[in-house]
Amino acid sequence: MIDAFSRLPGVGRRSAERLAFHLLKADPEEALGLARAIEDLKKLVRHCRICFNLADDELCSICRDPRRDRSSVLVVEQPKDLLAIEETGSYTGLYHVLMGRLSPLEGVGPEDLTIEALIERVRSAPEGELCEVILGLNPTLEGDGTGLYLGERLRGEDVRVTRLARGLPTGGQLELANRAVLAEAIAGRRSLDDGF
Ligand SMILES: [Zn+2]
Repeated sequence: MIDAFSRLPGVGRRSAERLAFHLLKADPEEALGLARAIEDLKKLVRHCRICFNLADDELCSICRDPRRDRSSVLVVEQPKDLLAIEETGSYTGLYHVLMGRLSPLEGVGPEDLTIEALIERVRSAPEGELCEVILGLNPTLEGDGTGLYLGERLRGEDVRVTRLARGLPTGGQLELANRAVLAEAIAGRRSLDDGF
């Protein structure tokens, strides 16, 4: 158990020992609940068929939710970025998770991401439903490069393309930005036509 815990990110040997001894003393319900949660995670969690967010069914809870605003799709790199934006509570539209960002140096090209699915999604949206694609990539060199590429690919499609405002520190990560900054970046988003 200690070995298994210490292989987890951010868990040192001492913490692993503490966790193992905690479980040893814990009542069976708590310990087995954790075991079941891990089993569910590996057996049930998959990617949403529409937006590639984590899901426990064919569609994720956001795509399934009839109260979500279907006129905008916010594009993020990873499910954890989506989570950070959800926590601000200031975005009510839909998402699209790219599952990474373009990185020529690491050999990550457009075909390794869910870009084709996004383009297809924009093209096949019911007439007049989807009005805006918001690029919510991390403010890094690679995030910017990915945003520019997406802007090009979406040029000529019948949607407005915007990106989050530059309140986010360059080189920073969306998932670590504080809620107020992130909410401001969503509210102050700008059209891609004004330059990236
Ligand atoms: Zn979804």
